[in-house]
Amino acid sequence: MRRDDASQGGTAQSRATAGEDKRLVAVYPGSFDPVHRGHLDIAKRAARVVDELVIAVYSTPNKKLLFTTDERVQLWRETVTEEGLTNVRVEPFEGLVIDYARTIGAQSIVRGLRAVTDFELEFQQALMNRKLAPEIETLMIITDLRYLFVSATLLKEVALLGGDLDGIVTTNVADALKQKFSER
Ligand code: ADP
Repeated sequence: MRRDDASQGGTAQSRATAGEDKRLVAVYPGSFDPVHRGHLDIAKRAARVVDELVIAVYSTPNKKLLFTTDERVQLWRETVTEEGLTNVRVEPFEGLVIDYARTIGAQSIVRGLRAVTDFELEFQQALMNRKLAPEIETLMIITDLRYLFVSATLLKEVALLGGDLDGIVTTNVADALKQKFSER
């Protein structure tokens, strides 16, 4: 085994030869406030290339939230069930993503990339995670063109002003947004 293989827990092939578990598990972390179709598209595509995808809803992101952690988890779970994504589960988490990934035995972290605006931050974050946990790979999945302009921040503004979010969020999320803004 090469030295860098040893430091990173071995290649998939060397693990297979050693008879170790080959299940590929990825974690897709985010604040998801709320989940939209851009997030869903990334989750569906990631779920096709791993055995299990764990959508990890960050409890305490450094941003102002509209939905509670329970609500964000619930909206994702309803969406996963509705879409029939059988190898995807949704869990809340806090702390470092790499620690959470290690806890659940994930070998990779999935992130979605929109245009240049996402790139610098995602790039820095991926390099930092690599420094902290060299055995965990970050997989960047490029957005579908339909969702290039979709962000949770923007869609909340549109919802607040009563705009139509058809094609941008799922029905359960559209209803939850209406409910949230009618409470205000
Ligand atoms: P953050 O994790 O920075 O709080 P979000 O919860 O909004 O941000 O997003 C979670 C992940 O989904 C991030 O990797 C983000 O880049 C990605 N993402 C957000 N919106 C889109 C979109 N429209 N298309 C593809 N990926 C997206």
